[in-house]
Amino acid sequence: MEPRPSPRTFPSVGDELIEAVRRAAPRRVVLQVPAGLVRDAHELAARLRDGTGIRTVLAARPCFGACDPPTPDEAPGAELAIVLGHAPIPNALPQRPTWFVEMRSPGGDPRALAETVRGAGLPRRLGVVASVQHLDLLPALTAELAERGFEVRVGRGDRRLAYAGQALGCNYTGAEEVAGSVEAFLFVGTGRFHPLGLAWAVDRPVWSLDPLQGTLEPPIDRGALVRRRQLLVATVRDARRWGILVSTFSGQNRTPTALALQERARARGRDAEILLSARIDPRDLEGRDLEAYVSTACPRIALDDTALYPKPVLTPPEFLMALGELPLEPYRFDTYH
Ligand code: SF4
Repeated sequence: MEPRPSPRTFPSVGDELIEAVRRAAPRRVVLQVPAGLVRDAHELAARLRDGTGIRTVLAARPCFGACDPPTPDEAPGAELAIVLGHAPIPNALPQRPTWFVEMRSPGGDPRALAETVRGAGLPRRLGVVASVQHLDLLPALTAELAERGFEVRVGRGDRRLAYAGQALGCNYTGAEEVAGSVEAFLFVGTGRFHPLGLAWAVDRPVWSLDPLQGTLEPPIDRGALVRRRQLLVATVRDARRWGILVSTFSGQNRTPTALALQERARARGRDAEILLSARIDPRDLEGRDLEAYVSTACPRIALDDTALYPKPVLTPPEFLMALGELPLEPYRFDTYH
């Protein structure tokens, strides 16, 4: 089989992207945006359409990540997909040619931001992680931090990460790589999604620096997060009938993991039915004669969205804890490799 070509990346929806689309001359383009850009989606699609003269349709379903680009059924006939707001996942490339527009932000004054970090008294040995939008800030920011006496470590991470220092909601292997040699982490970016994931993944305080506002948030209480999950695991220890959720999205499909979990469940005298879907939707789980679920799709479904589901949803490591095959401590984040 031919190796899939590396996806192209672009910093923003600008002239470079428009020229590249014009040259590639696909018959039809499908544009997909994350929820945070839905308001701008129609204007962005119009810019592409007007700039290239190529028929451009908009995917109605926003993307969660680079893991769930439009499926063939959602955008039939589109020869090129353009996904906004995410870096590619190198080891989970979509079948359809897909370009990623990372929406890089030039924002943030590294000197002022380093001063804010120094002023807040963060520990000297610091791991730094950033969302893809703010990765360009890291070289200058880490240099400014070093000038102020910080020993900064930035990890490379595994093959699911496109860049060193990159935060991905399901994979903090870059941070895990350096966790043993730092006292705390500094997340550079906006919102709670990434710092929360980082707090799950590493047993170190995680500070959040918003480079646009210049604000620094104190660490999330990791202990409380972990205790809530351990309690949930304890409540489903005796569950006999399990559903194993599998997503068919290109970057969320962990069928081998699901099959292995099913085998472990059966070996421990449990029933475990595999349920397949592209997007995991709590409404599809209503009314089923199952006591609990384990999600092999995006790890954040179980961790962040559990309240939306009719029954408890565990991650694969938590499921193994419930079966008694893993200890409750140390808590293991469901790193998606
Ligand atoms: S699996 Fe989840 S956390 Fe990972 S890239 Fe996809 S949406 Fe983000």
